[in-house]
Amino acid sequence: MSDVLDLTCDLIRRRSLTPEDAGCLPLIGERLARAGFRIEQLRYGEVDNLWATHGRDNEPGSGPTLIFLGHTDVVPTGPESAWRSPPFEPTVRDGDYSCDRPDRGNQQAAIHGRTPHLYGRGAADMKGSVAAMVVALEQFAAAHPQHRGRVGLLLTSDEEGPTNLDGVRRVAEHFRAGGERIDWCVVGEPSSREKLGDLIRVGRRGSLSGTLAVHGVQGHVAYPEKALNPIHAFAPALAELAAERWDSGNADFPPTSFQVSNLHAGTGANNVIPGTLSALINFRYGTARTADELRARTEAILQRHGLDYTLDWNLSGEPFLTPPQGRLREAVVAICRELCDLDPEQSTGGGTSDGRFIAPLGAEVVELGPVNATIHKVDECVAVQDLERLPALYRSVCERLLG
Ligand SMILES: [Zn+2]
Repeated sequence: MSDVLDLTCDLIRRRSLTPEDAGCLPLIGERLARAGFRIEQLRYGEVDNLWATHGRDNEPGSGPTLIFLGHTDVVPTGPESAWRSPPFEPTVRDGDYSCDRPDRGNQQAAIHGRTPHLYGRGAADMKGSVAAMVVALEQFAAAHPQHRGRVGLLLTSDEEGPTNLDGVRRVAEHFRAGGERIDWCVVGEPSSREKLGDLIRVGRRGSLSGTLAVHGVQGHVAYPEKALNPIHAFAPALAELAAERWDSGNADFPPTSFQVSNLHAGTGANNVIPGTLSALINFRYGTARTADELRARTEAILQRHGLDYTLDWNLSGEPFLTPPQGRLREAVVAICRELCDLDPEQSTGGGTSDGRFIAPLGAEVVELGPVNATIHKVDECVAVQDLERLPALYRSVCERLLG
C-alpha cells in the first residue's frame, strides 16, 4: 500500500464529523514534526487548527511563503445503511456503480469505470488531498532541506460547518495581526471534473446574504382596508428583483446571480392577513460589481415599491481572483499540462472555499484537487490512481516555486 493511500485510510477511520477533528490533526502534526516542520496548534473555541512550517523564519528578505490549505472535517454520511461499505471503514474496490447499482445511473458508471477506488467519507473532500499534501511536503523537505523561503500547511477542522467562525477565518485574523506574509496558497478542494487536473479554480465568487422582513398590518381577510398585506406589497418588488440583470459578468466571472432561498408569511389560518413577511436572499457575484452596489440597488427597488422593511446583510466572502500572470497560477497550469497531460480549465465557478480568507492577505490562491463527482454523497470515493498521483503534483508546486 502506498504512503498516501495508507495515510488517507488512517484519516478516513477517524470520524471527524464537522467540526470534530477526531485526532486527524495530531496524527499529521506528529508526522510533519518528524520531517522537521515547526508545529503550532491554533485552537479557537471548540475548533482545532494546525499550522506547520518549514524553512526560514517569517522575516523581511527571507524569501516567499507557499502554503497548502485543507480541512480534516467531513460532512455527515446520511443513512449509513445506504453505503455499500461503512463510510468510516476505508475500502478499496473497483468502481462498482455500473453493475451493482443500476439506480445510480450510467453517468457515474462512466466516471468511475472499473478501476480501483477508495471509498469512505472524506476520500475526495478532502482527506485524500490532505494526505497527498503531507506526503508531498515530507518528500520536498527531505529532498531540499535548504530550500528558499518557507513552505507551510494550514489545516482546519471547521470548513464544512454552517458558520466556520473558528476555522481559517480566525487563523487569517491571527496571521494579519502577527504580520504573517503569505505569497501563494494551494487549496486541496476537489476541483477536477472528470479527470485529475482537468479543472483548477483560480478565484471564487463572493457571497452576500440578506435577511429581509417586510412589515404590514395584521387583520381579518374580510376587512382588508383595516390591514396591510405584506405579501401583496412585496410581490411586485420580488418580481422586479428576480428579473433584474445585475451585471453581465466579465472575462473572469459569470453574471451575478440573485436567489430567494426562503420565503415565509402567514399564520396558517386562511382568514388572517399576516403582519409580516420574511425572506432570505443571496447574491453570488464576481468582480463586475461590489457588495455595496448590490446592497444599494436592492434597497432602491424595495424603497421604490414603498415597502416598510428591515434588511440585515451578511457578507460571508468577497470575490477573489488570482491573475493569469501570477506565478502560482502559471506553475499549476504547467504542472497539469506536464504531469496530467491536460490543459486545465481555469474556473472561478462553484461555491466558496477557505481560500477566501487567505486571498485578502495578499496571497495568490489556486485550488487543485481530485475529481469531485461524489463529494458529499453516499459512497464518496476517489480513484486510487488519482490519489497516488496527487503528491507529485503538490511536490512539483514546491519545487517550481521554492526549489
Ligand atoms: Zn472540502
